[in-house]
Parts: sequence; C-alpha cells; structure tokens
Amino acid sequence: PTSPTLIMSRFWSPVVHNLTPYVPGEQPKLTNLIKLNTNENPYGPSPKVQAAMQAEIADTLRLYPDPNADKLKAAIATYHGVSPAEVFVGNGSDEVLAHAFQALLKHDAPLLFPDITYSFYPVYCGLYGIDYRTVALSDTLEISTDDYRQDCGAIIFPNPNAPTGRLLARDAIETLLNEHPNQVVVVDEAYIDFGGDSAIPLVSRYPNLLVVQTLSKSRSLAGLRVGFAIGHPALIEALERVKNSFNSYPLDRLAIAGAAASFEDEAYFRQTCQAVINSRETLVGELTHLGFEVLPSAANFVFARHPLRDAATLAAALRERAIIVRHFRQPRIEQFLRISIGTDAECGALVKALEELL
Ligand code: PMP
Repeated sequence: PTSPTLIMSRFWSPVVHNLTPYVPGEQPKLTNLIKLNTNENPYGPSPKVQAAMQAEIADTLRLYPDPNADKLKAAIATYHGVSPAEVFVGNGSDEVLAHAFQALLKHDAPLLFPDITYSFYPVYCGLYGIDYRTVALSDTLEISTDDYRQDCGAIIFPNPNAPTGRLLARDAIETLLNEHPNQVVVVDEAYIDFGGDSAIPLVSRYPNLLVVQTLSKSRSLAGLRVGFAIGHPALIEALERVKNSFNSYPLDRLAIAGAAASFEDEAYFRQTCQAVINSRETLVGELTHLGFEVLPSAANFVFARHPLRDAATLAAALRERAIIVRHFRQPRIEQFLRISIGTDAECGALVKALEELL
C-alpha cells in the first residue's frame, strides 16, 4: 500500500485509525498578538523558579533525573499538608490524567463525566478503550451532583469546570464522595487557585478521592509541563505502577527544580493569582456593560455570549484584529466565547475591539 490511509489501516490497530485526537488551541507566534485562547497566565513564573533552573543547568544536567522526583513531591506535600506517599507527579496534568484513565480501565460500568467539559476526557477513553457516559450540565451550565446517582465505574470532572468556569462547592463534592464509596472520584483542579476551595483537605477522609492539579495556570509554568495528583497512598501507588510501566523519567531535572522552587514563593503566587482575579472581575463588568451574558467564573477565563452577535463571527473578527479567543462548535455552547484573562492592557484591548465590533 502507498496511501497514508491504507498504510494506517493495514499496519496499525483500528483503535488508532479511528482516533480523533484532542486539538489544542492555536499556538501562534506571539508577535503583536493578544493571546487569550489557552488559559495561560499573563505573568511570568516566580524569579525563584528561574534561579533554581539555572543552578540545575550549571550543576547536574549530565545526570539522569530522580525517577521519583522526591524533591518535588516533598515540596508539594509540605505545601498541601499531606505526606509524600499521597503525591504523584507527571509531565503536565494531561499526563497525570492519562495515567489515571489507564488505571481506571478495568471497570465494566462506564466512567461518568459532564457532557460539556475538558475535551481530552473522551479522547483518553477512545485511546484506552474505556466505556464512558456523559452527564448533561444543568440549564445554568452547572454540574448537578444529583445526576451522578447512577451505576458507574468512576467519575471525573474539572472543578471549576472547563470551558464554563463554573465552580462546584466542596460540600457537593463531599456528598458525591459519600454516595460513591466504591468508585474513584477524580477532581481535576486545573483552575482551582483562581477562586475555589480545593478538595485536597478531603483526601485524608476519603480514600476514593483523587485531586489533580497543574502548575500550568496559577503557577505560570505551562511550558515546563508539570502536574500532580493527591490521593490515598494506594491510589497513588496505582498511578506509580502505570507510570513506571510507561516512562521512568517523565520529569526532567529542570522541571523538578523549577516546579519545586515555585512552591517556595508563596507571596508571588498569591500576588499573581489575585492580579488575575482582579482583572477577571473588571473584565466581567465591562463585558456585561457591552451586553454580554457572562457565566460566574472561578477560573482564569470567562465564558460569555452576546444575545445579538454570532460567537464564531465575533471570534473571527477579533482574530483579524490580532486577538485570539476560543470558540467551541459544540451544541449548547456554540454561542459562547471563552476568553482567558490577560494583563489589564490585553483585556482593555479586547474590550475596545468588542466595542468597535458590536
Ligand atoms: N485539565 C483541564 C480542565 C484543563 O483545561 C487543562 C489545560 N488545557 C489541563 C487539565 C491540562 O493542563 P496541563 O497538561 O498543562 O497541566
């Protein structure tokens, strides 16, 4: 065979042939662009991160990294008040989630997640052959825990949810954990530091809870690729087994050093999170003033629609003005724009462009 389709179907598994991979948001060169499409932090990481990485470059790059990343696990454990045995680290929370999905493969009942959520979840299910069922968001685009009272193998959802930004209260998560004592509940807290209460304090009481977080958003380290999970040591042990069967060295020395250092600069972390939150609240006010309906957001992005303007057309018109926002062609949300919170200057430029377009 010579055609790519024939080669693919003849030599590789039909699973791969039928995959529809997740397509991340556009990653253009930054020159003169206002990039508000992939929820990166507009501020750089703590200066301590750079110093720690530079020291690592000077000293030890010829050596393999610590396969257990003990230094980073210790930093995360200390920061979150858990033991290192309750911490798993990976190459971005995407990889941590991938390992969690693989560890969930065995179930004969479906994995449950919201119908409108992080689009990687169905991709992983396709890749690992996991049966899943989606649960519709409520009329107000919220996760309603009542709707998860059904037979399932496990549950996963982001909190705040993506791309809506809506937060589920910790009480509701606790109810869910009590109602599903025999199922793992994975809470993907990629955006929790921008206004929500983490479920991590529940880990000591609920062996069925796995909380996943990332350093990509609130710690401004999307380029370093570091994420982690916190849960009962036996849940963590399962992830370690999957990881060690796949790649013993997921985190390189620079990532371990830089990520660990970011937990040592609490003042910088708080200051930049607060700056993003303040900019978000300002932007929500301005968008509302322009006639947008904006969902309450506890994340570093807002989800908004204009009753009189088509979202795809607006996104294209903004793109022509060098401002990139995210638009999803999915039923129920196709009239929404997801706008990442940039600096005040970037948000101001967005508002000005919208004023001209509306
Ligand atoms: N979970 C959610 C809900 C996300 O939106 C993202 C970022 N796209 C991730 C996980 C993955 O982030 P990372 O791999 O950068 O840690």
